[in-house]
Amino acid sequence: MLPATPARHARDTRHLFHPDHLEDFLASMRLGLDHLADALTAQAGPATGVLPEQAAKVVADVDLDRPLGDTRAALAEMSRVWLDDAVWFHDPAYVAHLNCPVVVPALLAELFVSSVNSSLDTFDQSVGGTFVERHLIDWTAGRIGFGATADGVFTSGGTQSNLQALHLARDAALAAGHATADLRVLASADGHFSVQKAAKLLGLAPDAVVTVAVDDDHRMDPLALSRALAGVRDAGHVPMAVVATAGTTDFGAIDPLPAVAALAEAHGAWLHVDAAYGGGLLASARLRPRLAGIERADSVTVDYHKTWFQPVSSSALVVRDSRHLGHVTWHADYLNPKDAAHPNQVDKSLQTTRRFDALKLWLTLRVMGPDTIGGYVEDVVDLATAVGERLADHPELELAATPQLSTVVFRYRPAGLAEDTADLLAGRIRATLYERGAAMVAATKVGGRCWLKLTLLNPVATLDDVLAVTDAVAALGRELTAEAAA
Ligand SMILES: *Cc1c(COP(=O)(O)O)cnc(C)c1O
Repeated sequence: MLPATPARHARDTRHLFHPDHLEDFLASMRLGLDHLADALTAQAGPATGVLPEQAAKVVADVDLDRPLGDTRAALAEMSRVWLDDAVWFHDPAYVAHLNCPVVVPALLAELFVSSVNSSLDTFDQSVGGTFVERHLIDWTAGRIGFGATADGVFTSGGTQSNLQALHLARDAALAAGHATADLRVLASADGHFSVQKAAKLLGLAPDAVVTVAVDDDHRMDPLALSRALAGVRDAGHVPMAVVATAGTTDFGAIDPLPAVAALAEAHGAWLHVDAAYGGGLLASARLRPRLAGIERADSVTVDYHKTWFQPVSSSALVVRDSRHLGHVTWHADYLNPKDAAHPNQVDKSLQTTRRFDALKLWLTLRVMGPDTIGGYVEDVVDLATAVGERLADHPELELAATPQLSTVVFRYRPAGLAEDTADLLAGRIRATLYERGAAMVAATKVGGRCWLKLTLLNPVATLDDVLAVTDAVAALGRELTAEAAA
């Protein structure tokens, strides 16, 4: 006889997602939607300018052991600790980092991603999800120009995609009999820091990343790459990988992919194209030619959470030859045994439990289609071009370079202003814009000097919106200069 069911503590299970609690679920979601709508209506400007000390204090004052027991009250508190002062990426005066306003079909998908909570490691935790992800990877691979042997996997972001790409490149080099200490990675001086970080995590030599000089347009100089490759060989080292960037973080520069691919091939080096930023060009018939040569890569990083207007996280690593993904495979009896009857994605991923982020891109493509996404990318690229034209002959603002994708690097420097002063002003202008809640711009260094940067990823923003920000920069430059003189 079976023992009697042990008595359970009487517990309130209304908070669990379950059909028995459908009304509670719907009530919570409606409350949340109304709260979000109120916040969107009240929102005025990209930020309120709250300082870290203030932001930290309201959070620290919350006692997590004393729940409020009420959704409405908890949402109100959430607003105080975060939402009231949140930075809104959809605001036209938010022009700082590579963050995008997100498309609504992707948000709708988020509801399903989190509620159903599928996990993409194995078929038995995701069923159709496994094939949705595969279909999107195949589709992206097709846009890259890879053939039928291509494969890939969704990742948490460009950093993870780049890490995995270099991991595959390293293991391919090790499989060819090379020693870890001899491996070198060649990347442009303007490449993303995640390349350096990946080299470190992969246990490569401290000086494993060889930076290659860029030309006046901040694109990798093929002659410099050729010399660097020869230098690596002369030192008795092995060029494990060449990392080309399709859309550098600061200047949106696209390295000359055909020339870089030819050199990588000639030296037997793995070619990784970091298209975290420029990947959105794959959706635009007009801009796609700028990525010519990307199909010669061994691996490509695409961040859908940048130029595909997806919520974080959404990125992919796509490889030309699926067999290379085997370098991250490990068989566990309890999950993905060697003789597993069903397909899985965990064999290709650095992660195990993994969000069904692919569904967001899926619903986006099914509702809106790729041409709409491509059109948005064209809009922001055109916007940057127009802003660049206005700044090119501005009496007080100086443009660092003609915009190539959707960034504009510039500074306040009227004729006669010393460069040291311009350096100081750049940081103060940026901080003041934030503190006043007027605009959010980014900062970077060019040739050791401080510059401001606009990253334009909002297809709704107009030229006037962005010129209002650059006007505010010029006005603040005058104001702060006058203050310093007084
Ligand atoms: C943003 C970016 C990355 C890093 O991507 P995350 O999604 O932030 O991890 C890598 N490379 C380039 C060129 C980028 O712009």
